[in-house]
Amino acid sequence: MSDIHTIGVVGAGQMGRGIAQVAALSGFKVYLFDLNKEILENSQNFIENQFSKGVSKEKYTQELVDSAKDNLNYIIDLKNMSHCDLVVEAATEKKEIKFQIFKDLDKALKQDAILASNTSSISITEIAAQTSRPERVCGMHFMNPVPVMKLVEGIKGLETDEEVFSQVKTVSEKMGKTFVSSNDVPGFIVNRVLMPMINEAVYAVYEGIASIEDIDAAMKLGTNQPMGPLTLADFIGLDTCLYIMEVLYDGLGDTKYRPCPLLKKYVASGRLGKKTKKGFYQY
Ligand code: NAD
Repeated sequence: MSDIHTIGVVGAGQMGRGIAQVAALSGFKVYLFDLNKEILENSQNFIENQFSKGVSKEKYTQELVDSAKDNLNYIIDLKNMSHCDLVVEAATEKKEIKFQIFKDLDKALKQDAILASNTSSISITEIAAQTSRPERVCGMHFMNPVPVMKLVEGIKGLETDEEVFSQVKTVSEKMGKTFVSSNDVPGFIVNRVLMPMINEAVYAVYEGIASIEDIDAAMKLGTNQPMGPLTLADFIGLDTCLYIMEVLYDGLGDTKYRPCPLLKKYVASGRLGKKTKKGFYQY
C-alpha cells in the first residue's frame, strides 16, 4: 500500500481527464484542475459519460462508478489541491507552460508532495530544476487513451529519489498499469524506438521502396503489429511525429534521427493525418 491517497491532475485535456478517470476508479481522491472552465466542464461530462457506458457494458459496477464520482473534484484554483500527496501534470506540451506550473506547484503543495509530469518530450531534470524539491520530481508518462493503454513509463530525473520513484511505481500499479523505468533521455523508451521506425517507414515511401499500403501490410503482417507504421503515424498526427523526431535529432545530435523531408513536406502542407482527414491515407 502506498502512502499516496490524494492525487492532483493539472490539465483536463485528453490525457488529464483519462488519468483522473482511472485514478478515481482505482480509489484515489482526485482533484482535476484546468485554467479553462469550459474544458473542465467538458471533461466532467466526458468522464461521466465513460462511466455510464462502462456500467451499461458491465465493465464497471454502479457502486464502483458512484464511488469514483465521489472521488472526483473539478477545480479551477490550484490552491484547492495543496493537500495532495501526488500531482500529475498533463498540461500543454510547452516548456514555458510546464516550467511555470512546476514553480506554482512547488509553492502551493505541501513539502513532501511528489510532483510528476506526463510530458512526452521535455527533460524531467529541467522541469525538476524549476522547483525547490528536484528529488521529489519525476516523469509519469501515460499512453493515450489512458483507460485502455496498460503502460506507464516512469522517468527518473538526475536528482529523483529512489523512494519517490518507487512510490510512483506503486501508484501506477494500483491504477492497473505496468510500470517501466527509463532514464531522462529524449524520447524516453517508447518514442525513442517507435518514432525512428515511423520515420524510416516515411523514408521508404520517399525513396519509392514500396507503396504506402504495402509498407503498412509488410510491417503489420511481417512483424505482428496491430497496424502499419504509416497508419499509426496518421493516428498520432504527423505534426506530433515530426516534433518528436526534432526532439530526438536536436537532443541526441545523431543524423540517424534526421526527420524525413517527406514528413516535413506533409506537415508544411497541412496534411497532419486523421485529424485533418488527410495524411498518408484519406479519412
Ligand atoms: P490537451 O491539449 O488535450 O490538454 C492540455 C490541457 O492543458 C488543456 O485542457 C489546457 O487548457 C490545459 N492547460 C494549459 N495550460 C495550463 C495551465 N497553466 N494550468 C492548467 N491547465 C493548463 O493535451 P494532451 O494531449 O492531453 O497532452 C497533455 C500532456 O500529455 C502533454 O505534455 C503531452 O505531451 C502528454 N502526452 C500526450 C499524449 C497524447 O497522445 N495526446 C500521450 C502521452 C503524453
